[in-house]
Amino acid sequence: MCRHLGYLGAPISLASLVMAPSHSLYEQSWAPRRQRHGTVNADGFGVGWYVPSVRPEPARYRRSVPIWNDPSFASLAPTVSSGCVVAAVRSATAGYPADESNAAPFTFGRWLFSHNGRVSDWSQVRKLLPVDTEVHESLAPVDSAALFGLAVSLWRADASLGDGLVGVVSAVLAAGGGRLNLLASDGSSLAATACGDTLFALTLADGVVLASEPYDDSPAWQEIPDNSLVEVDSAGLRVTSIAL
Ligand code: GLN
Repeated sequence: MCRHLGYLGAPISLASLVMAPSHSLYEQSWAPRRQRHGTVNADGFGVGWYVPSVRPEPARYRRSVPIWNDPSFASLAPTVSSGCVVAAVRSATAGYPADESNAAPFTFGRWLFSHNGRVSDWSQVRKLLPVDTEVHESLAPVDSAALFGLAVSLWRADASLGDGLVGVVSAVLAAGGGRLNLLASDGSSLAATACGDTLFALTLADGVVLASEPYDDSPAWQEIPDNSLVEVDSAGLRVTSIAL
């Protein structure tokens, strides 16, 4: 399982969010504390962030190397601030290459998407994708990319961010199942599912963090029960159980 993180709130630098905390996503790439599957997350990483004064679509930086092996990210991270971020460090599921195109977050239009887990039958899930998709990143050779394609189809058909993720979970459960901790943003909200792996939320004075595991020892981290959808927007955080 990979580890991922989403943030919505007052602008914060990528370094403060991803590298500085005592058990940051950066550290989780070699020493995750709550990971149930896999030991290190060294098969690439990615960070997507929004700068609404420039454009509604996010910027996204991905590499196939471990995050600790990328001095260019360490150099830029303190200089870039955003109020909405999705980041992930990857432990490639066996059979899927450690290629940059397979690293989350995936993006199309204003959406960012990340997946912790694996699908049991990738070929079945790929059959659910439109054959003529313009969402090129959904064709990357990894199960997560197909899930992204499904989510985009649902969002483009006007599903809310959270309903799109629940729709992906339902579709995949009907096509062989899997572990489906999903995380997405559209720039003004976050949504995440806890379906098979850990998910935590931290409400700060000026923002909310969703993360596969706590990035520090604050007692304020709230563990999200399995089979839940978490939605975060300007109204705050809501947790609902997913009716399966
Ligand atoms: N199956 C996805 C991949 O190979 C996610 C892996 C994970 O959560 N470790 O990238």
